[in-house]
Amino acid sequence: MKKLSRLIPKNHFCSFFLFREEPLISWKYTKSILFTAYDVYRSSSFWIDEMMREGKTLKEGLMELGFPKDVTLMADTGIFEVEAKKAGISNKLGINVDFELSNEEIFQAYEISGADFFVAPDEIISPLDTKDIVRKKVTKIKNNLLQILSFFPSSQVIGVIQGCNSQTIESLFDFYKECGIRYFARGGVIPLYRYDTKLFEQVLQKSREITTGYWLHTFGLPRVFLLTYYLRKLGFDSVDTSLLLYLSARKKYLIGINSRPVRLVDFSKCDCEGCRMLHNLRKNRAVYGKEFFVYLYIHNILEAVRISSDSVSERLETDQREVTTKKTKIKPSGQKTSVDGDWTTGSELMERRLDYR
Ligand SMILES: [Zn+2]
Repeated sequence: MKKLSRLIPKNHFCSFFLFREEPLISWKYTKSILFTAYDVYRSSSFWIDEMMREGKTLKEGLMELGFPKDVTLMADTGIFEVEAKKAGISNKLGINVDFELSNEEIFQAYEISGADFFVAPDEIISPLDTKDIVRKKVTKIKNNLLQILSFFPSSQVIGVIQGCNSQTIESLFDFYKECGIRYFARGGVIPLYRYDTKLFEQVLQKSREITTGYWLHTFGLPRVFLLTYYLRKLGFDSVDTSLLLYLSARKKYLIGINSRPVRLVDFSKCDCEGCRMLHNLRKNRAVYGKEFFVYLYIHNILEAVRISSDSVSERLETDQREVTTKKTKIKPSGQKTSVDGDWTTGSELMERRLDYR
């Protein structure tokens, strides 16, 4: 069975051509990447049509372009992204996002992907949901699992743990185990984090406790400091992220868990592949173009891998202290705070996505 890495960056290879070109196509930064069914449907790229016509999976197509065979592909629905889009800019403008993905469409995208792991479609259970709604969502999540198991073996399916109390969490976990699921993920984290940080912590601790001995992934990294919080403090096994891509698009450079504007950074202080290129580009007075963005992204990925790896450095202990300081700055009302400004709202996602096409 293939293994997942601690950091699982979201790789938008369907909708964003840079991921199908050098240097990103020769992906050597993490052992696994995540991609979404949504990314397949929103993409207008002819590349996908070509692969389908030739009867190849997307992974096979990527491999022809130079993608390493042993990098694990984890396929997720991307439904949360669609929801974020609905709640974001389009909502404000009064536009209904006419975009729904049925389970069948999701499984179709999963089948053409040739991925190694498939995330079962879930429903986000909010702390504000009534008991009746929670019951309905739990039933839906369980039915989704049974459906996906008619397409893929249980060894390749990831069950998503939802719920804001022990009873719901236990009910889902027991069901998954009975169905032979061995890989788990925690979902609904971001809304919970925004709602109440204390409940967020309790729910995450409960989810880790119940899945002891199994792989537990976390969906969603709204801020960089949560990387060390999830992986070190709570002991989760992995986390996926698009945040590093957004930071790079905003010309932000990661140093530990902090991000700095790229114009203030001395690239010669880091010896990673990205910084070597960034240093050269700056020496040659290159403009902030596509290449600059790609190498900045590579630095940000490598820095995030470094802080999420198992070897604890002295610098990280400083980072951990900052986690405590920053945590106290989270407003209890759950409103977004501008302390370090790397929150991504639905509308920001939407605006940035337009830049990627
Ligand atoms: Zn670097």
